[in-house]
Amino acid sequence: MRTLISGGTVVSPAGAALSEVLIEDERVVALAAPGSEMAASFCAGANVIEAAGLLVLPGAVDVHTHMELPFGGTYASDTFETGTRAAAWGGTTTIVDFAVQRKGEPLRTGLDVWLAKAEGNCAIDYGFHMIVSDVNEQICKEMDVLVGEGVTSFKLFMAYPGVLYSTDGEIFRAMQQAAQSGATIMVHAENGIAIDVLVSQALARGETAPRFHGTTRPDLLEAEATARAVALARVAGAPVYIVHLTTTGALEAVAEARRAGQNAFAETCPQYLFLSSDDLARDGFEGAKYVCSPPLRAREHQANLWRGLRTDDLSIVSTDHCPFFFKEQKELGKEDFSKIPNGLPAVEHRVDLTYQGVRAGEITLSRWVEVNATTPARMFGLYPKKGVIAPGSDADIVVYDPNARHTISASSHHMNVDYSTYEGREVIGQARWVLSRGRLVIQDGRYVGDKAHGRFLARGTNQYLL
Ligand SMILES: [Zn+2]
Repeated sequence: MRTLISGGTVVSPAGAALSEVLIEDERVVALAAPGSEMAASFCAGANVIEAAGLLVLPGAVDVHTHMELPFGGTYASDTFETGTRAAAWGGTTTIVDFAVQRKGEPLRTGLDVWLAKAEGNCAIDYGFHMIVSDVNEQICKEMDVLVGEGVTSFKLFMAYPGVLYSTDGEIFRAMQQAAQSGATIMVHAENGIAIDVLVSQALARGETAPRFHGTTRPDLLEAEATARAVALARVAGAPVYIVHLTTTGALEAVAEARRAGQNAFAETCPQYLFLSSDDLARDGFEGAKYVCSPPLRAREHQANLWRGLRTDDLSIVSTDHCPFFFKEQKELGKEDFSKIPNGLPAVEHRVDLTYQGVRAGEITLSRWVEVNATTPARMFGLYPKKGVIAPGSDADIVVYDPNARHTISASSHHMNVDYSTYEGREVIGQARWVLSRGRLVIQDGRYVGDKAHGRFLARGTNQYLL
């Protein structure tokens, strides 16, 4: 099966150029100059996607999603089926989700549960990080085994005491293990112990509304935890990746470590670039739609996050997609903000939202591709299979219309959730064609995918080390 993407502008971190993209079966086989003999000869018998005036991008890689995550007595509402379909609509062709180790159980048990949930249900390819909630010598040995099987990154939590929380000693021990195997340790950096004190004091004062979710998780407690995570990783000699960084202070901690040559990396998410604590403070219970952790911050942090994306102190934009219905799920916290499930729907709109940053001059077109596709693929051992359009790479390709206008709304989005945090927001730019390993998933704005198509990706280790 041959496909030719013709007349489009191929964008990579190195630049943008008019180029014909030749695909055979699941792979890109060549890029050819428009009008060249090679392109003409390939045309025979090929399906041609006319891409004149459109951008041709490597499929975006979202390395932070939580499909069907158990949280606070309920489950994130997107299944692997609905979540990967929504991802594809938005131009994402790979997700790396989080398998969860339950306390007292082997890592393998958790991984098997998540593999079973995903298998046969994904429209696009998928991999897993492992959430470690119980660090001991046996688990450390098991971490090495999983690295050999393509699960090469482990997430530990400084937040959520009593649930996913690990002590500094446990985190440090896991980092030592990662230093030997080449695994990357991902850290949710918020000081959960101090936050729990603030939460119970707020509740005792009768402060139960959604906005108190934000006031009880002050940005300094993220900056402090980030600096601590980075220091622990430096002593252990392991690469560290700070998930969902939201504040100027945390960014400074990462930037300082990077200036010193440390393998410290961080991501941010669209919600921290486009939404703020003002949304969390919306009237009545409306703010519950915006409850996630770390919380949305004061608007003043946003310019610094964009700067971080330009300087590579923030290397990746991912979504932390973790949707809950407003009705019945978010409502669990109607009388008590601490019972509102933490998380937002986001997987569908990362590429479009960050494209608004390109339009506004915050990042270049090339940098947009880099933070959404190329760097996540390199950071998590998927490059050059994913994250680039080059001979031999998987034909995961998005043909993107940079001038299409559309309005984000729960009535038209594809995520399985009854609200949008961007309801009514008009954006410019939209995926028109999406291919996963050469197979069409979105065909000129129509879903033609198949939930049996996506495959598990055994990942290599971090290829982004300094
Ligand atoms: Zn998360």
